[in-house]
Amino acid sequence: MSILEIKDLHATVDTPEGTKEILKGVDLTIKGGETHAIMGPNGSGKSTLAYSIAGHPKYDITSGTVLLDGEDVLEMSVDERARAGLFLAMQYPVEVPGVTVSNFLRTAKTAVDGEAPSLRTWVKDVKGAMANLKMDEAFAERNVNEGFSGGEKKRHEILQMELLKPAIAILDETDSGLDVDALRVVSEGVNRAKANTDVGVMLITHYTRILNYIKPDFVHVFVNGRVAEEGGPELAERLEAEGYERFLTGAN
Ligand code: ADP
Ligand code: MG
Ligand code: MG
Repeated sequence: MSILEIKDLHATVDTPEGTKEILKGVDLTIKGGETHAIMGPNGSGKSTLAYSIAGHPKYDITSGTVLLDGEDVLEMSVDERARAGLFLAMQYPVEVPGVTVSNFLRTAKTAVDGEAPSLRTWVKDVKGAMANLKMDEAFAERNVNEGFSGGEKKRHEILQMELLKPAIAILDETDSGLDVDALRVVSEGVNRAKANTDVGVMLITHYTRILNYIKPDFVHVFVNGRVAEEGGPELAERLEAEGYERFLTGAN
């Protein structure tokens, strides 16, 4: 079972107005098999946390640690992070011109596993995962994210997660832009991964809606660059009723 430990993480980003501290001491531990909802107002730094763990070059880690099974994630290249078992589904996935979904998935699987998957089982696995996510087979021959609808992008992310079998999956606003049917399909994919593997999930969301489908074990309220409050699923219900207002007085 894996464990991701984030300790007193501080991160800055360079803006036209100068260097701005976005993460102001994040403490969070996620174990395999657990689902942690990270909830917070827009602009509180949730995506910055995801990108910082993933190693996005835009964000500078100024202090703190991120350990995966005791290994220093911040010392790893982006590829090494993926190989170590970290998976990040981007809030705004990028287009990859000229690379088909099929080739992209196979390349990613080969990079993560350190060897190419056996062709026979791989084709079967991809077909099975796509059928589970109610994706048309023709989707595999499209270029990654090119002209994908919001729902297709999210399905593609979950397809990657199902096939790459990460130790820790970071899902950033996986619910954004999904209608109820797509939300159900995508959530079922996450729940399938949870049932079939020991994945630990960091589920970043602004809204409580997705938590009706993916049940969190822990809820962390993220405000102004840090965790302001933590609790169980009941905390999400409270946020649904009250919003983030009580956390915002005196913030900044
Ligand atoms: P959230 O995901 O919670 O909405 P973000 O992490 O996207 O929050 O953003 C947190 C703050 O950091 C915001 O004020 C945002 O404008 C700023 N920020 C994030 N990324 C960048 C960037 N690449 N350049 C400039 N400012 C950024
Ligand atoms: Mg965000
Ligand atoms: Mg910089």
